[in-house]
Amino acid sequence: MREAAFILFVLFLLFGLTALRYRKQIAGILALGRTLRDMKENSQRDHPVEQIKDQASRELRACAGCGTWIDASGAIKFDRNTFYCSRECVQRSMASA
Ligand SMILES: [Zn+2]
Repeated sequence: MREAAFILFVLFLLFGLTALRYRKQIAGILALGRTLRDMKENSQRDHPVEQIKDQASRELRACAGCGTWIDASGAIKFDRNTFYCSRECVQRSMASA
């Protein structure tokens, strides 16, 4: 029974020394794993946002003031079907109405 305890102690000591010897490598491996997980999370999060952006930028609207075709994402939305390319066009059409 004493021998078993001694063997366990030696094994524990060896494991501790090994961990101490390779602690930098172990920390590096853990950091690498964390980085890879973060990259995976970021790519999963970014992908749908990019798809939505692409769809919005493909949608073109004619400015109600000057008739210029503009991206729906960059347009000033006045109501459901009325878009303006700039504040100047909004003010001009307000003044003329
Ligand atoms: Zn305009």
